[in-house]
Amino acid sequence: MSLSSPVRFVKGVGEARERAFLRLGVRTVEDLLFFFPRRYEDRRNITSLSTLVAGQMASVVAEVLAFDRRTSHRGLEISIALLGDGKDMARAVWFNVPKLGDALTPGVRVALYGRVEAREGLQLTNPEFEVLDESDPQSVGRIVPIYPATAGLPSKWVRRIVSTVLDTCLSEVQDFTPSTIRQKYKFSDLRQAVAELHHPQKHESWLRARNRLAFNELFLLQTGLLLRKKRRTSSRACTGPLKPGEKYAAFLKALPFRLTRAQTRAIGEVVADMRSEVPMNRLLQGDVGSGKTAVALAALVVAVDGEAQAAFMAPTEILAQQHFLRLQNLLAGLDVQVELLTGALSRKERGRVLAAIASGEAGIVVGTHALFGGKVVFKRLGLAVVDEQHRFGVLQKNALLAKTDSPHVLVMTATPIPRTLTLSIYGDLDVSLLDELPAGRQPVKTHRVGNSPQQMARLLNFIQEEARRGHQAYWVCPLIEESEKLDLSSALSRREELAKALPGLRVALISGQLPTGEKESVMAAFAGGETNLLVATSVIEVGVDVPNATVMVIEDAAHFGIAQLHQLRGRVGRGEGESHCVLLSGKTTPEGEARLSAMLSSSDGFKIAELDLRQRGPGEICGVRQHGVTDFRVADLVRDHKILELARREAAHLIDRDPELKSEPLLAQALASRLGAALELAGTA
Ligand code: ADP
Ligand code: MG
Repeated sequence: MSLSSPVRFVKGVGEARERAFLRLGVRTVEDLLFFFPRRYEDRRNITSLSTLVAGQMASVVAEVLAFDRRTSHRGLEISIALLGDGKDMARAVWFNVPKLGDALTPGVRVALYGRVEAREGLQLTNPEFEVLDESDPQSVGRIVPIYPATAGLPSKWVRRIVSTVLDTCLSEVQDFTPSTIRQKYKFSDLRQAVAELHHPQKHESWLRARNRLAFNELFLLQTGLLLRKKRRTSSRACTGPLKPGEKYAAFLKALPFRLTRAQTRAIGEVVADMRSEVPMNRLLQGDVGSGKTAVALAALVVAVDGEAQAAFMAPTEILAQQHFLRLQNLLAGLDVQVELLTGALSRKERGRVLAAIASGEAGIVVGTHALFGGKVVFKRLGLAVVDEQHRFGVLQKNALLAKTDSPHVLVMTATPIPRTLTLSIYGDLDVSLLDELPAGRQPVKTHRVGNSPQQMARLLNFIQEEARRGHQAYWVCPLIEESEKLDLSSALSRREELAKALPGLRVALISGQLPTGEKESVMAAFAGGETNLLVATSVIEVGVDVPNATVMVIEDAAHFGIAQLHQLRGRVGRGEGESHCVLLSGKTTPEGEARLSAMLSSSDGFKIAELDLRQRGPGEICGVRQHGVTDFRVADLVRDHKILELARREAAHLIDRDPELKSEPLLAQALASRLGAALELAGTA
């Protein structure tokens, strides 16, 4: 048995349990060694039941004095164990858990973990528990690791398996972190750290061990990202150096506003990138409404000035359409052919656009996912701009980039990404930041409104008033996860109701489900001010830009994620008028309340993103779950920012000294096997 053997090779692991392990991401013996407890229980002594505090989580060891089971009048099956520690008593109560009585016979000792509640005395409600086997040294008389559980993997059994593997295979674990770094920071031995995490001695040594392991994870990723960057910067852009020319000058002149300082700076960075030999790979970050589109357009025009083709990819048809119209306006009179490619084109039109792309006539192509379809062949694609890039999967982006060798790439995101995440996910990109909103914007006022008829009447009244002042409003319907069709039908009926309740106002409906032509005309009517109120499913979340809209109502707001709410709010406050965001919600879950109060307390996208990261974890926030690069076993992107910065510094030093990792074969091998696919580093080792 070696570290790379499948877990199946471990004695006692059969097919079913191997499958259960796979669900937890444990494939090999090595994975098992790095499969760490999620918490620990101190079972060295019986816990005094008198220390229980209502409202807290508690871990106790006690004796079962009696067990009883009954069915409540509402049909709930209730199991009750009376627990004793020789002095005090408490109860443990489970709802609808069958067959507990088989295990919880009077006289056995059990370890329990759960929430303490005050109900006719203190009780543990639905605790996890384990019957203690006095002859099993793994389970009693010590601090016991509790592993992430899943159906089909009893925790006691996992403990035994891990313990066996620790005994037999720990000595094979090798540390890929270079010895110079280990010495410099006086890192403890990796094997010791692994052992400590399974069986901690005390808190300080546990913490040192976990930081040590977090460093390794972050260091590996940073090395991979910086290597990828190194590789790019030593390649040559397919366009050759580009020089802004006539079209660029004309574009700047045609812009209907003065660029903010931040926009000027970002455009400068982009243009400098494109003037160099090295392909640009830049992330443009900026809060909603900060004016990212202008920066994107500048890049597109520089590309066509240099006779290259440029692609501008947007996540929705509505947004692609909007970008397309704006570009056509700005470039009118210039000799640039702009085309729109979405899945909704007629066959004939699609054929025409594809031909224009292939012949090179089309200078700029704006589109949706349709852009990376197999039939799309560019003559000389030199730049790809990806708007709202977190909406696209990595694979989709790569499919577009694969259409040519070493193009310039600009990705944009309106979800401000906390720095730790930027470094981990986009660590090989250069970053431009729009940290300023165009002048004259007033912050959007955010309100929480309940569902009572009085409150609703006041809200409708307010929309009427705003309409009288010539302003427009959005009304976003609840998110129905299972089905866009359901989303549409609920939005349809909401539109009816609102039209009735708001006589005299023109109320329209937009949804991703509508046929393309209809979507276009609805959006055009709203943008043109013909519609007063636009009822929408969450399709308007990204990008839509109608400066005259001043009210955003979000129904059932607690069900949206924070970043989504912030995006939606960003649809208003784009013009001169004072704008309002109304979060409709009754009482909701604690998580929902947290999201709403975050929205009420801050309009700073970065603060909100930090909160979001805390609440949901990195995978969700950026749609990067498929990366597989942030699935750390130990590292935590919220807490470990110091370790991350350190890991990045050391990785940069190393790659400067030894860009081929010749002196670090273990590191090269770990990179190839663990991150190779995710970072496309195959061949690096
Ligand atoms: P986002 O960063 O959310 O993509 P947009 O590029 O859609 O923002 O810009 C938001 C709005 O601000 C648009 O109406 C745009 O025309 C306007 N805008 C952008 N830059 C400026 C500026 N420098 N001055 C005034 N308005 C601007
Ligand atoms: Mg935008």
